[in-house]
Amino acid sequence: MVRPSLRVAKTRKRRTPSETKLRRIEKRTKKPHCSNCRAILHGVAFGSRNRVKKMSKSERLPTRQHAGHLCSNCLKSAIKAEVRS
Ligand SMILES: [Zn+2]
Repeated sequence: MVRPSLRVAKTRKRRTPSETKLRRIEKRTKKPHCSNCRAILHGVAFGSRNRVKKMSKSERLPTRQHAGHLCSNCLKSAIKAEVRS
């Protein structure tokens, strides 16, 4: 178990008619970015690991080369540069 001071998930109090409950709030994750130009990648799943794991494989990543690393523009120019060299 993680030491309480190092925990990332925060807890909030939530009042219900009978009692006050503690609710865990997951850490917000950033959207995935292109490793070349830092543009936001579309079609790439993000969020908690539990949420991503429940998705189907085709929902998590596009099915092309360098999906999840390069945006479509950077991939296009990388393929062109490789063919021309
Ligand atoms: Zn890019």
